[in-house]
Parts: sequence; C-alpha cells; structure tokens
Amino acid sequence: MSLTFLAVHAHPDDEASSSGGVLAQLSDEGVRTIVVTCTNGECGDDPRGVKPLDDSHDGESVAALRAEELDRAVEILGVSRLERFGYRDSGMMGWPQNDDPRCFWRCDVAAAAERLADIVREERPQVIMTYNEYGFYGHPDHIMANTVTRAMLELIDYEPTLVYNAIPSSVMALFRERWAAEDARRREEALARGEEPEPVSEDEDRDLSTPDDLVDVAVDVSAVTHRKRAALLAHASQLGDSFFGTMSEEEFRQAMGTEWFVRATNPLGLTGPSRDLFAGYR
Ligand SMILES: [Zn+2]
Repeated sequence: MSLTFLAVHAHPDDEASSSGGVLAQLSDEGVRTIVVTCTNGECGDDPRGVKPLDDSHDGESVAALRAEELDRAVEILGVSRLERFGYRDSGMMGWPQNDDPRCFWRCDVAAAAERLADIVREERPQVIMTYNEYGFYGHPDHIMANTVTRAMLELIDYEPTLVYNAIPSSVMALFRERWAAEDARRREEALARGEEPEPVSEDEDRDLSTPDDLVDVAVDVSAVTHRKRAALLAHASQLGDSFFGTMSEEEFRQAMGTEWFVRATNPLGLTGPSRDLFAGYR
C-alpha cells in the first residue's frame, strides 16, 4: 500500500518545529509527505527587527521572507507537496490582528475545511497530523488548524488516523529546567554588563504537556535531527534568541530526537504505545 502523511500547520516554521523529524524520516522511508501551511506568518518580527504590535511593522515583507524560508525548509525535510492556504497570520490571542477579516482566525471554517478536503480526497493520507483543540499552546491559528482539520473529517468518505503533537510531562519538566537555566544565564550576563536584567518570564499557568501514559506514539527521529535542525535554522528570520539556535548539533539531537503524538481518531483500534505513526498501515 502506498503511504501518505499530511501535516496541517499554522505558520511557516511549525512544520519544522512540530513535525520536522517525522517529515524527514517518513520521506526517507518513501512515504509521501504533504504539508499544508495555513497562514503566511505576517506576525513574525520584520526584517528590521520590528515587532508585530509596532505601527511600523511590515507584515508583507515578513510574509515574503517566510515564504522563501518555508520553501527551503520543506526541501530539507524532503516534503513531497507543500500547499499554502494564504490566510493572514492572526497573531497571539487578543492582538488587533485577530480582527482582520483576512486572518485565519476569522476564516470561513466550512470553506477552509472544503479546501483541505479537496487535498485529502486527492491524496488519501492514512495519517494526518495537526495540533490539539487548544492549538497546543493557545495560538489562534493553531486552534483554527485543529478546527478546520476536524471539520474536514466530516467531508471525506473515509476515516484517517488523526494525531496531535504532544510533549510528555516528563520531557516538559526537562525543557523547563533548561529554559530556567537559560534565563538565569541571560540575567547574569546582563548584570555583568551592568544592565538591568529583564524580568523573569512568567511561567505559563497552563501545563501544555501530556501525562506520559497518555502519549500514544513516540517516534525516534534521532537519525534525522540534523535535517530537523537545518529546517528550523532555514527559518532564520524568526529564530531570534530561540533556544534551538543556541543548541549544538549534539544537544539538539538529544533534546529533539523524539517526536510524540496523541491519537485523536483511531480507526484501526490500536492499543498501547507505538513507535510508528503508520502502525497498522504498513
Ligand atoms: Zn505557529
């Protein structure tokens, strides 16, 4: 059986950060891989470093730059087909960009689901990946990616396996430690320069992680982390001081060598943890 994987993402760079490992690995295995990127990512920092809430922020040039970066990233990941839906980036929850009628958050869900369904009818992916109902971390465009993907399932004539990306609680605890250490290092450096350190970032109230025993699929992508890293670095305009950029190749392999998923639909009735997104289909 020919295997096809579809990832529905919100912004250019999400394909690399949330699924770069499985995209590279599956394409190496001969699985057809399709990425749908719903927005143009206008709400990133612009090429002059201007933040999206600043009046002089130039969203169009951000989008143009990110389109090129996305081309490069999907090439690195061996993606078979990239589709851009071209909605405007909605920005974070509560931003004025949320009210732009062209933004993804304001989209006509039925129309977007129909566009996605057209691709699914043509490609018939067995496995589809997006974010959970909370958009993994509450970003409006990630939430809408979930809404549109689930609406699409009602429009097709078969039931694919839908998975959401996840971080197990035990791993999130390690990441938090790393972020705290990074924050502490920055503050010390600022103090050493005689500057006032930035206030400690408020920890998110919401725990974004999934209890370890509720994670259904853990894919070992350590053989392709160099490509996941290269794909992330291809999104250079948005890296800023993100910790991806500061990790060595080896640190990256250790931290990012597994990608986790929770099954939102389970048409094959699989039970127990799996190491393979296509378990039951191979
Ligand atoms: Zn995103």
